[in-house]
Amino acid sequence: MKTIAIIQARMGSTRFPGKVLKDLGGYPVLWWVYIAAHEAIGVDDVIIATSVLDQDNPIAEWCEQEQITYWRGSETDVLERFHQCATVHKADVILRLTGDCPFLDPQIITEVVKLREMTGADYACNVDPPTYPDGLDVECFTWEALHVSHLEATRLTDRDCVCQYMSRNRHRFKAANLTCPLPGLHKERWVLDTKDDYEFCKAVASRLGAPANYTSILRILDKEPELRKINERWTRNERFYSVLSQEEQPRRTFRRSDTLLSKALSTIPFGSQTFSKSHIQFPGGRAPLYVTHADGSHIYDVDGNDYVDLVNAVLPVVLGYRDPDVDAAIRDQLNRGISFSLASDREVELSELLVKHIPCAEMVKFGKTGTDVTTAAIRLARAYTGRDHVLLSGYHGWADWSMGPTDRYKGIPESVRRLTHRVPYGTQDWGPGYDKIAAFIVEPNDNPEYLKFLREYCTERGIVLIFDEIITGFRYSLGGAQKFFGVTPDLACFGKAMGNGMPISALVGRRNIMKLCEPPNNIFYSGTFFGETLSIAAAIATINKMERENVCNYLQDNGWYLSDRVETLIANADLEDHIKLSGHPSRRMLWFRDDKIRTLFMMEMIQNGVLIINSHNMSYAIKKPEIDRIRIAYEKTLGVIKDALELEDIDSRIGNSVVTAAPLRATS
Ligand code: PLP
Repeated sequence: MKTIAIIQARMGSTRFPGKVLKDLGGYPVLWWVYIAAHEAIGVDDVIIATSVLDQDNPIAEWCEQEQITYWRGSETDVLERFHQCATVHKADVILRLTGDCPFLDPQIITEVVKLREMTGADYACNVDPPTYPDGLDVECFTWEALHVSHLEATRLTDRDCVCQYMSRNRHRFKAANLTCPLPGLHKERWVLDTKDDYEFCKAVASRLGAPANYTSILRILDKEPELRKINERWTRNERFYSVLSQEEQPRRTFRRSDTLLSKALSTIPFGSQTFSKSHIQFPGGRAPLYVTHADGSHIYDVDGNDYVDLVNAVLPVVLGYRDPDVDAAIRDQLNRGISFSLASDREVELSELLVKHIPCAEMVKFGKTGTDVTTAAIRLARAYTGRDHVLLSGYHGWADWSMGPTDRYKGIPESVRRLTHRVPYGTQDWGPGYDKIAAFIVEPNDNPEYLKFLREYCTERGIVLIFDEIITGFRYSLGGAQKFFGVTPDLACFGKAMGNGMPISALVGRRNIMKLCEPPNNIFYSGTFFGETLSIAAAIATINKMERENVCNYLQDNGWYLSDRVETLIANADLEDHIKLSGHPSRRMLWFRDDKIRTLFMMEMIQNGVLIINSHNMSYAIKKPEIDRIRIAYEKTLGVIKDALELEDIDSRIGNSVVTAAPLRATS
């Protein structure tokens, strides 16, 4: 088994030309990288791979002078360059290193090589997700994986970034990732990409000998933290994501999704555990149905297609997939245990955090789902008031009381159905006969005047006002819509975004109602997993990060930024009567004149690399490059819709895959 390290290097960097041969502590940058690879255990050969361009001659000359093996190949098709080099050198396993990482640590290289070997992975790395400092990137893969990528990859970004095809196609290539044992280091920037980086690298190199050891660099930065300021304005992978956003979109096909659906339908009703993620929400045969993984703002399907995700797991993902701070908190908690025989200290910590942020929260009970806590809220309200009837406005989960007044009422006793009544949001006259109302539960989406009216109405009649903040909570503000609009309910339910994807929800509210859970009333609300600590740790990390980094403001600003651009495009395409946007910018809703337009819209957005159902579910990981990509997708999609309307051929474009707007209808 022959393992070779191939160091990719070129002189023509756009941001900092000639960087790989710049002097660092008396040696060229490339020499630092070479030494790190050379000292790693398990690496048989180290080769520098540059391009055939004349401007890269200095790299070849330097290699000759230092008697270092080098290879020259295509400038733009780096995948081909690696493939040729690895094939000629008869490599079984290849390490990909880059010439702009002078502080590569031989120990980390050694561990990635060993990880690949021990897991039998086709592709191992320490960047998926990145937990080490930027600039310590190591990727390792088999020749077979490289060969398949070389034969199949057609996208420019796949040819330019050697491992992109492997890491995107998880269903094809078994992957393993080395996680940094020290927390928070993904924020460090030790790479050489800009002139600022060079100043930083020079400062560090002058205090260090090659090869680097990452803990020594941390020691240097502990003593002189101001060094970080030199290059702090640059962010990781910025260039890659902006290239990706502008890239010509490949034709997406969904063969594996469709095959998996046929298989899934024999063991799972609807082929999906979640109704809103099932095939009925998507245009048949024209959409991805199953996912392999996700990262930040991107999601990857079983056919190897990638999308900017505007669904975000139907709203739990608020910081982005695999958020490094939340994931580190989960790992840290995992080291202590998951579920215990007694309540844990973490549940007290999270309860106090919720009480601090949410106006109505004096006491807290957790759940796993939104349905858990909305149902608990209704039970408490009934016990508190001694009344049975409930008014509801919105969707509040799958429980009997909530689903009774919808067209999906089968299986729910008539006696239960009679007790719940749907009220359209914004209406004030509910007719006679509601004098036995225990609770009004409402999704506080907009219209603060209405919420104030409800507050007064409920107070006057002794009705418990419940805000269902499963969606609005942790999106409108950390204190939910109640803080955003300045209207305080008696009870409120939180879920979804609370744990950035971990299953956790919370019922919060006034002490005198929440206390009914205790003797002498003993209203029963309890679950084996309600205190499960991985989710609690994730929630604490999510809320703290959102507070620290002012994420709600970010979601709003970016949400408006996107929405403004989309509305301009809609107006330019003269489609204002066909598509409209409304609601809060963190989840701005889309309205379509009819289901055929909705279907064509989804199909085209998907083809243009954006996964969307009916709203812009923003996340903190959606940055300007992704918004650019979404804007381009909208522009193309609206053009197609306009053509279809003009040519009156929308039916032939969508075939028989129409998606309906509201799969759940109110009946009373
Ligand atoms: N309340 C609202 C406003 C929701 O949107 C949902 C789910 O979509 C729920 C309650 C139910 O939450 P869960 O699906 O976690 O039970």
